Amino acid sequence: MTDKTFEELFVDELRDIRDAEHRMVKALPKLIKGASSKELSVALKEHLGQTEEHVLRLDQSFEQLDEKPGQKVCEAMKGLLEEAEELLDESNDPAVKDAAIIAAAQKVEHYEMATYGTLREWARQLGFDEIASRLQKTLDEEEMADKRLTVIAESRNYVAATESRRK
Ligand code: ZN
Ligand code: FE
Ligand code: FE
Repeated sequence: MTDKTFEELFVDELRDIRDAEHRMVKALPKLIKGASSKELSVALKEHLGQTEEHVLRLDQSFEQLDEKPGQKVCEAMKGLLEEAEELLDESNDPAVKDAAIIAAAQKVEHYEMATYGTLREWARQLGFDEIASRLQKTLDEEEMADKRLTVIAESRNYVAATESRRK
């Protein structure tokens, strides 16, 4: 065990979420391709654009801290995305597949929201105000993406549930 300072822990976690975002940039096209609902694919596409920006935003913070993003692997996101791939293969029924995609995407958003909430707070306490507001901006976008997915799920999953009942 090493004796990390709070600031070192903060930078480590920034590296972790940077890897997570980068993995999501690579995974989102697969979710978009699997989606049948137009609304869902549009929402995911727009979030892909935002996710690319999240990576850039983190890079700005590394620069400001005079640190490198490094090679840290976010095991949590790796696991979430492995599960997402499994979920995608569970069904070829379009409405059921969409339900699975939404579920996988919302798990990711919640992981990101938890991380950004913590990091924003840490940044504030460490006196990195500009980094804190950048983290807040990303947190806001993750929350909006999550809410949008909830709205889509409400109408889209209704279709899946109705079809299920008929079978
Ligand atoms: Zn993000
Ligand atoms: Fe992680
Ligand atoms: Fe996100």
